[in-house]
Amino acid sequence: MKVSFYGTRGSCPSPGKDTLKYGGNTACTLIEANNGKKLILDAGTGIRRLGDELVKQQEDIYLLVTHNHFDHIQGFPFFKPAFQAQRNIYIYPAITQPNEPKAIVEQMHGSYSPIASTMLQANIQFQFPDWQLQPIIINGFSVSRQPINHPNGGMAYLISCDNKTVAYVTDNELNFPNPVVTISQWISIVSDVDLLIHDGQYVASDMPLKFGWGHSLISESLDLAVQAKVKNLAIYSHDPERTDDELDQLQAEINNMNQNVNAFLSMEGQVVQL
Ligand SMILES: [Zn+2]
Repeated sequence: MKVSFYGTRGSCPSPGKDTLKYGGNTACTLIEANNGKKLILDAGTGIRRLGDELVKQQEDIYLLVTHNHFDHIQGFPFFKPAFQAQRNIYIYPAITQPNEPKAIVEQMHGSYSPIASTMLQANIQFQFPDWQLQPIIINGFSVSRQPINHPNGGMAYLISCDNKTVAYVTDNELNFPNPVVTISQWISIVSDVDLLIHDGQYVASDMPLKFGWGHSLISESLDLAVQAKVKNLAIYSHDPERTDDELDQLQAEINNMNQNVNAFLSMEGQVVQL
């Protein structure tokens, strides 16, 4: 299994000279099985460049969406395969409050977008499998999901293939007020996964202002990874204000903690082979 990061920034794209190393595009991650089958997680601005690659191929596209905040759907109107007439795109929406499963195309509406969703030529099909029957099989991957602790809700996904498991848990506040999923439940859910991709947008100095905004401290994500005995932790959803130098400093602090987990701040363009 191979995991490629096309966007690891949270909340808002942050291009510029201070974010060249970790990247400025928002959430998009590609999972590839050894047989080449693919699953896309989220359609933040990072999906635009992934689309430039996929547009040259014929395969059906499978996209799992965690929630509808702009940083997770904003790239879809710029995803070239959506404009290909022969293309099948299967979208698995999250449950949100309010529940708006087609928001990813409905954002292309009225004065919000010069291109209406009716101009997308691909065969776009929203999928609503019975998630009670977890795991379900999507393009050869075994997939289950869990609600996240985030304003308006959303979903985390656990994806298995090739005897490896990735947990994609972004925009999740581990110490959320009135959590939907407690920390001890998270420890059980992501226990022993090969790669945990977890939100780590904040540091201690961001609190208490951002308490309840739906993101975790890097240290909280690290604690979860250690307690759940995951093999690798990719910290995800970096704060748009955080510069490369600051992220490098935070990575150095993680390295000095000498934890029993390979923990790293995920980087746009990075590929992890499991
Ligand atoms: Zn969000």
